[in-house]
Amino acid sequence: MQELIKDSIMKHLANPSNIDVPLEALDDSAVIDDIVFTTDSHTVQPLFFPGGDIGSLSVCGTVNDISVMGAQPIALSLGFIIEEGFSIEDLDKILESIGKMSTEAGVPVVTGDTKVVEKGALQQLVTNTSGIGKRTELLDNNIFEVQRHREFNEKWLKDSNLRPGDKIIVSGYIGDHGIALLSFREGYGFESEVQSDIWPLNKMIALALKGGGVVAMKDPTRGGLANTLHEWAGKSKFGIKIDEDKIPIREGVQSACEMLGIDALNIGNEGKVVIGVVKEKAEDVLKIIKTTNEGKFAEIIGEVREDMTGVAMVTSVGGLRLVDAPAGDPVPRIC
Ligand code: MG
Repeated sequence: MQELIKDSIMKHLANPSNIDVPLEALDDSAVIDDIVFTTDSHTVQPLFFPGGDIGSLSVCGTVNDISVMGAQPIALSLGFIIEEGFSIEDLDKILESIGKMSTEAGVPVVTGDTKVVEKGALQQLVTNTSGIGKRTELLDNNIFEVQRHREFNEKWLKDSNLRPGDKIIVSGYIGDHGIALLSFREGYGFESEVQSDIWPLNKMIALALKGGGVVAMKDPTRGGLANTLHEWAGKSKFGIKIDEDKIPIREGVQSACEMLGIDALNIGNEGKVVIGVVKEKAEDVLKIIKTTNEGKFAEIIGEVREDMTGVAMVTSVGGLRLVDAPAGDPVPRIC
């Protein structure tokens, strides 16, 4: 996927230099003149799964990608491509959950498009959601707070903003979404204990910004926590060291991973955020997000380091393990 994006897609789409966060940055959203803009397509199978459906996914993925730039999401577009003969009842259920999530997030769907294609042209239904967000005073105040503690010349919370000493927070249990979906799809039965974590994070993120000192945020979707940390380390050009004992993982996810021979760090999440914060403010931000339902299991899991590159983890038994960037997708079509 990385090669496809870099070698085949991006080479035709060079951005002008006045774009604040351009396509080439490969961040969660682009920024043009203080407008934050992103798009996401959804091909999840099955369409309904424990804890959510393609509708909730369509809203939350886009709301979260805008929010992690430090912006307030304000509006969404919604595109449907539907296979001829698709059940109207199922479409109604999907739209009901889109309406519910959009209300929960406070971000309306303001434009859309629907196409029907002939039977067999695609599997049931796919969606595309784009979204826009805007800069608020919350982000400005958060950045002032960062600047009280270290040099910081950025206007947005980009992947490349981390510096040695910054602490890394994860907002809760990792791996829930991917394991719930995989288990349900393949009939392993773990979904009785593990449900998808799909949720719009804009409200919790606004609280974290209010706490101040946040330098970067990312939702660990495809490729999971390992991929997020690798993107941060690579773009920031520093290493990241995490502590295995601090990473929140549910027992059900842990046992599913052991049984299936996959690493929970590589599993996609849809209701979690990873937060980089100056060390002086890390405990404050942690405390604030722990007051929310979506962030009550948050932990400080590690820090940015000058003396290494890549991502390494201090294991429960005290060893040091290199965390590889996920080579392939251990759980395809989960978003
Ligand atoms: Mg993202």
